Amino acid sequence: MQINELYQTIILDHSKRPRNFGELPAPAVKGEGYNPSCGDEIVVFVSESPTGTIEQIKFTGQACAICMASTSLMTTQVKGKSVGEALGLKRTFIDFLTQEAEPATGLGNLQAFGGVKKFPQRLKCATLGWHALEGALKNRAR
Ligand code: ZN
Repeated sequence: MQINELYQTIILDHSKRPRNFGELPAPAVKGEGYNPSCGDEIVVFVSESPTGTIEQIKFTGQACAICMASTSLMTTQVKGKSVGEALGLKRTFIDFLTQEAEPATGLGNLQAFGGVKKFPQRLKCATLGWHALEGALKNRAR
């Protein structure tokens, strides 16, 4: 299997069967993202463990395949990470999509979205879930 086919398979799989799809009850915090140019709407729910890691994460919304798959993969990648690690991964992912430099390590299957580089108008689709995650993390009670 070619690497591009593998990546397409990952995106197709996550867009058709999004992981961690649903809501979390309070006291979980939520963050919302809206991408008017495509019509994507995402709400991310996060609950934090006493030690400051992302214990549970879920999302709902209506979005295109790229946005759905990106948000689904995001939830699988940040679960169990500390808040700082999750936000670091967001920066790494966005740098990967917007810069020419070789990606930092640790992206795993998120590299499947490398094709988005050729379609800058889809950048918002691929990053919307991550912005909603950051919004949720900022809404945490302190
Ligand atoms: Zn979209």
